[in-house]
Amino acid sequence: MSDSSGPPTVRTVADLRAAVATWRSAGETIALVPTMGALHEGHLSLVRAAHANASKVVATLFVNPTQFGENEDLSTYPRDEDRDRELFAQEKVDLLFAPAIDQMYGENDSTRIDVGELGTCLDGEYRPGFFVGVATVVAKLLLQSLPDVALFGEKDFQQLQVIRRMVSDLHIPVEIMGVPTVREADGLALSSRNAYLTPEEREAAPALYSVLNKIADAARSGGDLPAAIDDGMDELRAAGFSSVDYLTVRNADTFAVIDASTDLQRFPGRVLGAAHLGKARLIDNVKL
Ligand code: AMP
Repeated sequence: MSDSSGPPTVRTVADLRAAVATWRSAGETIALVPTMGALHEGHLSLVRAAHANASKVVATLFVNPTQFGENEDLSTYPRDEDRDRELFAQEKVDLLFAPAIDQMYGENDSTRIDVGELGTCLDGEYRPGFFVGVATVVAKLLLQSLPDVALFGEKDFQQLQVIRRMVSDLHIPVEIMGVPTVREADGLALSSRNAYLTPEEREAAPALYSVLNKIADAARSGGDLPAAIDDGMDELRAAGFSSVDYLTVRNADTFAVIDASTDLQRFPGRVLGAAHLGKARLIDNVKL
């Protein structure tokens, strides 16, 4: 079951289920941490939160092809399984599930999960089919492992809400926990795709978080939101971002647009942004 120098590792659904069943019969509780690898402190904070919420932690490592668009970076997505295995071992992951594609998508696989509007707005508009791929692979991972709790980063806030919706709608018996975003000292949210940034782009990248915070301040103080958003667009372009997909203030549960007339005491708000910098598309968000 164990590959050398890493946590115990399984590569088939049957072996995953057998390991989890053994733990279940011993009264253990199970937390699941899905990842696509190229691990950083953000992923590791999910593992730490998982240990705090269950007695056994299962991490997964799978670069999911169905969530990549045709012109996206599936073939160049950073992969380093040996390094990831070492980091998971350091964090005392109890089991790593690292399946090959045919375990996840068998011959004639055709079922897809579509959560509707929640997954077609924002990132779903700019990355058509992305959240169908995400919801489908996460549903598979949850049903394969049947954990008590599964942990996801607030960094990918729309993804977290899509998964909550899917789990609720399909009555999957698991608690979904969101984990706060881990950032570099200058505010840039950690992301495997930050590896695409040149040194100059890396210097410019924290502008996204800074702009989101300025918009959040305007929203909190009842300021002029459209003006704050326009200023944010200008600031990002001046910093070197080539295009801004969106900068927007939304209801955190429904993603309905929030404007000056919205009572922020009654609606949980979130400022979200996505913008291109060199080869990278950066996303980030802050809570209101
Ligand atoms: P990925 O490998 O990019 O699919 O991410 C796996 C999990 O790590 C997802 O739940 C992400 O939301 C989460 N994650 C990615 N970056 C961060 C971060 N900077 N802070 C916290 N969680 C993160």
